[in-house]
Amino acid sequence: MNQRGAEGVILKIGVLALQGAVEEHLRMIKECGLEGVKVKTVEDFKKIDRLIIPGGESTAIGKLAKIYGLDREISKRGREGMPIFGTCAGMILLANKVIGNEQIRFNLIDILVERNAFGRQVDSFEAELNIEDFAGKPFRAIFIRAPYIKKVGKEVKVLAQFDGKIVMARQKNILVSSFHPELTNDLRVHKYFLSENY
Ligand code: GLN
Repeated sequence: MNQRGAEGVILKIGVLALQGAVEEHLRMIKECGLEGVKVKTVEDFKKIDRLIIPGGESTAIGKLAKIYGLDREISKRGREGMPIFGTCAGMILLANKVIGNEQIRFNLIDILVERNAFGRQVDSFEAELNIEDFAGKPFRAIFIRAPYIKKVGKEVKVLAQFDGKIVMARQKNILVSSFHPELTNDLRVHKYFLSENY
């Protein structure tokens, strides 16, 4: 994969490091041959070219992002076109609407999300997904108290579904997944997001 941005500079990838599965994403970024850094402050955020928002607890991440002033910065740069990828709680934080929930969000993708949507009994599970435009074998996806997408706006492309439920989608520069590709050894989702022509 190409590791350089438009000016031939190696892309710097940030992982929002307020709470959640941060190290796992950093490992994937490194395995893709890129430099990953933790983002905890607005200063950190200003130094990066792309952002990954990890899984964890979306209400906690949202509250901390507001305390550090990162919520407005992320919304602003996302609207300006910065590539941002949210997994699980990260997907909830990027959504325009979350059912029955007024939690802090960045409002960058036109989707309606239901939290913990696969039921309380089914805390976590794995499933084989066919992801749109991905070559090769199905993607073995890990879901942990996962949300799913109930509705998408006109601009949103659905990339994967499980059991009739939308679990991966993209709107221009914003990518979201209900599942955790960072907990597998399959680099395809990260490579897709980190590629030069994403
Ligand atoms: N259930 C969590 C939330 O609502 C998300 C779970 C996860 O990120 N693994 O924030």
